[in-house]
Amino acid sequence: MKTHPRLSPLSLLFLLLLGNLLNLFCVTETQARMGGGHSYSSGSSSGSSGSSGRSSGGSWGGGSSSGGFHWSGSSSSGFSGRSDTLYLNSGNAQPENKSQGTLFIEIIILILVIYVLIRLLSHSSYSGPVNTVRSSRPDDYAKMNASLDDKLQDLKGRDANFSKVLFIDFVCLIYHKFYSFRGSDQFRLISPYISKMVAEQTAGNVFYQQQSIHDIVIGKAKIVNISQRESGDNILVEFETNLSLQYIKTREKVRLVNRERWLFGRQAGLLSPQPEQMRTLSCPSCGAPADFTDAGECQYCHSFIQGGSRQWQVIKIDVIDSQPFKTQDPGGYVEEAGTNFTTVYQYGLESRQGEFIHTHHLGDWPSFFNGFCEQVIKPYFQATYAAWSKGDWRKARHLVSDRLYESNGFWMDEYAKQGWRNILENINIQKIEIVRIDLDKFYDSLTVRVFASCLDYTIDSQAKLLGGSLKKPRQFSEYWTFMRTAGVERIEQEYDLKTCPSCGAPADKVGQTGICAYCGSKITEGHFSWVLAVITQDEVYEG
Ligand SMILES: [Zn+2]
Ligand SMILES: [Zn+2]
Repeated sequence: MKTHPRLSPLSLLFLLLLGNLLNLFCVTETQARMGGGHSYSSGSSSGSSGSSGRSSGGSWGGGSSSGGFHWSGSSSSGFSGRSDTLYLNSGNAQPENKSQGTLFIEIIILILVIYVLIRLLSHSSYSGPVNTVRSSRPDDYAKMNASLDDKLQDLKGRDANFSKVLFIDFVCLIYHKFYSFRGSDQFRLISPYISKMVAEQTAGNVFYQQQSIHDIVIGKAKIVNISQRESGDNILVEFETNLSLQYIKTREKVRLVNRERWLFGRQAGLLSPQPEQMRTLSCPSCGAPADFTDAGECQYCHSFIQGGSRQWQVIKIDVIDSQPFKTQDPGGYVEEAGTNFTTVYQYGLESRQGEFIHTHHLGDWPSFFNGFCEQVIKPYFQATYAAWSKGDWRKARHLVSDRLYESNGFWMDEYAKQGWRNILENINIQKIEIVRIDLDKFYDSLTVRVFASCLDYTIDSQAKLLGGSLKKPRQFSEYWTFMRTAGVERIEQEYDLKTCPSCGAPADKVGQTGICAYCGSKITEGHFSWVLAVITQDEVYEG
């Protein structure tokens, strides 16, 4: 169906030039944003332009529906179309960049290149509906998701090992390492996963050598586009993250809230590596722990890993938004948004239900789903909300994915630092709907929309009410995604949230990393039972 635009040999020539152009665009783009060293040097003092309190923009999918756990910096508006303009505008700016010795012919070629670029963009996904995200009605998502789902299916057709869950884990790992290692010697450890262009820009940036980045928390990582090129595949991922940037000399520190788009690419015809390899940084050739020279030579097997030849690599990084983080006013409770939005269902959901039932040799969907609601969703909901309210997030460790644990843990720590506690009680779940089913070779994941109400208020250390209401329940809905390793055939009725799903011992000794101290199993990757992987607020859920 969705073919990539057909290219004439002439266009191909232009495409080569286009690569160079994009290269230049990127330089300006990345340096102008976070880490560029200038814009945030006065960091925390700034009035933080768009710190518009509670906005519908990217939520952490925090434990509650209230304002407290949302990104402070990310505003909902001003996002749409942003990356589009980025591509095209930089195109116009190009001739100036190359000012010295510009030849007439070069200009002509440039014009032609820009023409081709615009044509390509108008065909390809970049200008797609992705950019209309925030302002549009949820109904619009259906079309956009159907097309993204089709592309995902196509990709799985080409790569039977492709798993969205694993891919997201992988890109989060790369994101984490990229910023942790940036500006240091260790950056070479990820050289096979970073394109030459991005690596050069990064290594050559003197600002980066004067900074260090810590405490990276990834709130959101979502595939927003998949595209097929002649020579390979591209996946565009949007991140919403939170990180501390420190100037090595002055020790000055600033906490940033970032929204970024990373383009990953790899050569055509590849099969994704096995799950273990997607989750660790290892040599894509021999599997040894990552230890590469700057040139990308593995110190163990001595193969030169050419970027994108075996595994996904970062082709481009756009920092769309980067703002100083501010802990929000706990009294700043804002009207709940999105509860009345129509539910965003996956295209072809019914056939996925059939597939799920068939794969797991189950009788019928309604009886499975009923058990899933009663034995998994409701107890998980109660347990995670209780852990949150008690300010003891560790109690939910065995139930949630590493990323959810980390991101919500961040907010809990922020609250704890101020002596605040957000209490969610009298939880009443009214309705649960299945909205999405993703099945691949390694994982099953189910997304549901939960309609509920609860008392939601925040108190300080003296139990003084800071925000919310002790009397009036708050009505809300959230999208919850559960995942489990494919092939786990466990009857929903057997779930007991108080025990380790691997060894049956009490789930009271599950460490930060999700490993049960009794049996040593990692229980938060869905190998033994369902894990709550993502929570998304209704007003930002896009399918
Ligand atoms: Zn190797
Ligand atoms: Zn155990």
